[in-house]
Amino acid sequence: MPLSPFDGGGTFTVLNPSNGQAIGSVALADLAATDAAIERAHAAFPAWRAIAPGERARLLRSFAAAVDAHIDELAALEVIGSGHTIGNARWEAGNVRDVLNYYSAAPERHFGRQIPVAGGVDITFHEPLGVVGIIVPWNFPMPIAGWGFGPALAAGNTVVLKPAELTPLTALRLGELARDAGIPEGVFTVIPGKGSVVGERFVTHPLVRKVCFTGSTDVGKGIMRGCADQVKKLTLELGGKNANVVFEDADLEKAAASAPGAGLDNAGQDCCARSRILVQASVYDRFLELLQPAVEAFRVTDPSSPDAEMGPLISAKQRDSVLAGIADADVAYRGQTVEDTGGFWMPPTVVMPRSAADPVWSQELFGPVLAVMPFTDEADAIAKANDTEYGLSGSIFTRDLGRALRVARGVESGNLSVNSHSSVRYWTPFGGFKQSGLGRELGPDAPDSFSEVKNVFISTDD
Ligand code: NAD
Repeated sequence: MPLSPFDGGGTFTVLNPSNGQAIGSVALADLAATDAAIERAHAAFPAWRAIAPGERARLLRSFAAAVDAHIDELAALEVIGSGHTIGNARWEAGNVRDVLNYYSAAPERHFGRQIPVAGGVDITFHEPLGVVGIIVPWNFPMPIAGWGFGPALAAGNTVVLKPAELTPLTALRLGELARDAGIPEGVFTVIPGKGSVVGERFVTHPLVRKVCFTGSTDVGKGIMRGCADQVKKLTLELGGKNANVVFEDADLEKAAASAPGAGLDNAGQDCCARSRILVQASVYDRFLELLQPAVEAFRVTDPSSPDAEMGPLISAKQRDSVLAGIADADVAYRGQTVEDTGGFWMPPTVVMPRSAADPVWSQELFGPVLAVMPFTDEADAIAKANDTEYGLSGSIFTRDLGRALRVARGVESGNLSVNSHSSVRYWTPFGGFKQSGLGRELGPDAPDSFSEVKNVFISTDD
């Protein structure tokens, strides 16, 4: 188990969500240790920003190679520490490698512009910000960390990263791999600790110039208020209650077969989970008939098993909160579960909301729950999809290309997919509308959001 180089803030016992057993304890940083780490990151900044672009690129590629050489180890840590299925965990570690490789091309390509002006030359530079603080939630510990530190480091910033209390292990290991790969001391520091201590200090410490927060909408709002004090730059990736819209002309078999994966992957603890399924009324009954065997076949088992499609939830608290959220719901059917292990299991559950005001329809449960509701026509589908404070992702199933595009343009979400459920590719932008977030991560422009544009005019007058 990777060790925390920090202390002073007590310890946190990490549990294996599959059986509830302790797998080790992680020492947490206190305020003084956090401040010292931020100051070290600040001290490391001038040399990191000044490093030749090709050399920074080489170091990021060597970090990516170190991650690649440890995919199995990182994945195994995520299986025991977070309950992720082994297939997902391998993908997640590979995603960190890919993000690092993708952004390793940025130092040599983060171009400014030359803008025509009279009397001289006008050029722009992308200046790094300084220390960037990244705050990560427990649901995807590795990818969400990488989406922040990959482009932030590439743009010439130094990074302090706080993993979620529940899931610090893979982040600590990534910190060790960065050091082994030659990333200089202080450039990338993983600081395990409490949100109220380490996370808040990223917001209040004047040397932290940007906060990248992924987590719940409520905590995100508090961070936004805190950042206002210093007009600190901020990216927010928050909650979601995403719609999967199935039209009568769709390939219904394909839509029904893919709906469980889209809503139940990572036990539904996914901000992009398609937890609201909207089905055109004329095919509603047929869709529910097709969905039932697909949900029942969704393989819920020991996450280290290669055929596992869903493991446990992250904690007893999270499972109990999801169960409380569906306590009064009309349940259509349930899928598989695992009993008597002491772990935090629950079955995939399909519920029928009584109205759009039903909490199972309107609130993000962050668990393996699919709510299904009919709609009448295109306008009704768009209105129902948009009837939420969130706007992160969504899917549209139809064979009509014009309709697919009209609905995609009408749904207020940052990431939509047609006849599929993909939302996250590291080379395309990711982020939310409305209360799902602020700013975008990933894609070709991410290094811009970790830099300031500086405009310089050079007079050519005698
Ligand atoms: P959370 O908001 O409780 O915690 C997220 C992180 O913030 C943790 O590291 C936590 O320690 C830290 N934190 C808590 N209080 C803080 C404070 N006052 N100041 C600074 N940091 C603080 O969220 P969670 O329960 O870990 O994650 C689940 C939530 O994250 C869900 O709502 C989910 O939708 C959201 N999420 C969003 C995305 C996205 O990309 N939009 C991705 C994953 C998760």
